[in-house]
Amino acid sequence: MGTVEVDAFEFCRRKEARSGEADVASMARLATETLDSSGKLQWAVQGGADGRGHPLMQLQVQGDVKLHCQRCLAPMDFHIDSQVDVIIAADDASADVLDEQLLDEPVEVIVGSTAFDLLLLVEDEALLALPPAPRHEVCGAPAKPVDAPEKKESPFAVLGKLKR
Ligand SMILES: [Zn+2]
Repeated sequence: MGTVEVDAFEFCRRKEARSGEADVASMARLATETLDSSGKLQWAVQGGADGRGHPLMQLQVQGDVKLHCQRCLAPMDFHIDSQVDVIIAADDASADVLDEQLLDEPVEVIVGSTAFDLLLLVEDEALLALPPAPRHEVCGAPAKPVDAPEKKESPFAVLGKLKR
């Protein structure tokens, strides 16, 4: 489990930048959501401020993961290519206020800390980027109705064969 901890507020104030590569396997939640935990994410975070002076992190996440096509159930490659601006709030109360103020703006608001794990932010964004019902763009699903299950051999028949 890797972490990339920074002081979120200092990071933004000093307009620092960090980037790196993270194994999908090292991100437990993302690994669960994907078909296998192969693959890597490339990420970059740039600190700064928004027009009103709020601490801001500009996050980029890219990488390939494997998902299950919900139609044909075969594996499919999915390319994550995501960018988001994240306002860093000082605490829960100001996060709520900022959420209200910035409702119409394409930013996310999260509570920062002095030991802020950038990789958790990367993982959150990757999870948000996953489609809720992944499907091949050109799906090779056979044209059989889903509600007609294939005839399966009875488990007892299999047992019978084993005994012989
Ligand atoms: Zn498919």
